[in-house]
Amino acid sequence: MTLIEHRSSPAVELAARHRRSLQAASARLEVICGCMFSGKSEELIRRLVRADIGRQRVVAVKPAIDRRYSAGAIASHAGRQWPCAAVADTAEIAHLVTEHDAQVLGIEEAQFFDAGLVDVVRRLVDGGVRVICAGLDLDALGRPFGPMPALACEAEQVTKLTAVCMVCSADASRSQLLVDGEPVPWQDGPLINVGGAEAYEARCRTCFTVPDRPA
Ligand SMILES: [Zn+2]
Repeated sequence: MTLIEHRSSPAVELAARHRRSLQAASARLEVICGCMFSGKSEELIRRLVRADIGRQRVVAVKPAIDRRYSAGAIASHAGRQWPCAAVADTAEIAHLVTEHDAQVLGIEEAQFFDAGLVDVVRRLVDGGVRVICAGLDLDALGRPFGPMPALACEAEQVTKLTAVCMVCSADASRSQLLVDGEPVPWQDGPLINVGGAEAYEARCRTCFTVPDRPA
């Protein structure tokens, strides 16, 4: 049998069609959300590792703004890492997926991308890509964060993780920003630079505090 005959054989065609249908079936949007220290990056890495073991072509990205731990990797607080590209905007994401013919796309810190991320993700999933977005669902003032609400609505699966409240040990759903140990008031906003020692801790709804929050 020649190579050409082999390629066009019914069995090979059937196998190729089977692979395409499997890929179409796995195309969907998954969102992993929650507060800081809830294990979002760990869960994202776990899913990417599983896809890699399953011989899927995996690409991972994060916004260039996020310099935490490593510019070239998704890093979990538990110390696991997965290589990723730091991209300046959402247009770069689609370009990377095409360039690598990726079947699975991981997006870390998705809350920092602009609203255009939702359209980019929708087009990729429609085109057969499995997209997994991880990000903070609420900012440090307890407000919905960037494109995360829209992504959650668009998703086939949403996983909301919790951390442990640093005050009362209940399940934590919020990220408390402290400056010099004190909760940051509403008017100072979630992204501030007041010169004090900034720290975040996970807190439950009851222990989460935003002084001067409008009623
Ligand atoms: Zn609490």
